[in-house]
Amino acid sequence: MSKEKGNNAPVTERGNSLELNIGHLYPAEMNLYGDRGNILCLVQRCRWRGIEARVKSIGLGESWPQGLDLLFFGGGPDAQQKGVARDLLETKGEGLRHDLEDGLVALAICGGFQLLCRYYRPAEGPDLAGLGFFDAWTEHPGPRVPRCIGNVVVEWEKSKLVGFENHGGRTYLGASCHPLGRVRRGHGNNGKDRTEGAIHRNTFASYLHGPLLPKNPLFADHLLRLALERRYGPMVLPPLDDTLEDLAHAAALRRGGG
Ligand code: GLN
Repeated sequence: MSKEKGNNAPVTERGNSLELNIGHLYPAEMNLYGDRGNILCLVQRCRWRGIEARVKSIGLGESWPQGLDLLFFGGGPDAQQKGVARDLLETKGEGLRHDLEDGLVALAICGGFQLLCRYYRPAEGPDLAGLGFFDAWTEHPGPRVPRCIGNVVVEWEKSKLVGFENHGGRTYLGASCHPLGRVRRGHGNNGKDRTEGAIHRNTFASYLHGPLLPKNPLFADHLLRLALERRYGPMVLPPLDDTLEDLAHAAALRRGGG
């Protein structure tokens, strides 16, 4: 399908035009290695289909909003995570946990992922209490231990995800937490058990920066379809002409040895 906006709107049972409310958690503090591009990708893939996408920034000190259909939480350095972790639990924790448990579709990357787990032990200083939504925890082995850096290829469903990782923390999944995928190239959660990211309810977490979504259009549309169907019920999400995205994905696969 061409990428011109037009009458590409998805078909719903009622045939009405669609809208999507996208929350962006801590856009100023948690935005590493192009993570903000995930918001741009979600918005544009909606607009190409004639879906009205609205983005609500949710910053420090702001209370948890109602009526979100999709949430994005990006990565950040240890120094930023300290302030964000405190604010997350004090001003947003109860509402955020309720909505995630209720099936709000969400994507969390790296530092955002870590703060949705039980705790994050940074390179220096005390543990940061996390939301505890994922049965998982993260420990940074200290500033003298090499970080997990490089291109990553992950086996996800029957497809592959490509991206770039740069994190010191190593994340370990508890018994009730499922990985997003299996590492084919790179470190992933901890460089040991080949897990990458996590999934619980409709929340997807990953260490892949880049940003993740533009080069992984199948995954981007998976999130959009989940969010739209949760709000409107069954629908057909018209495919887009992803020639450019597919070329970028293939090039990243070759670079990553995937
Ligand atoms: N500060 C965290 C770590 O080093 C997360 C980094 C990130 O979000 N890229 O593990």
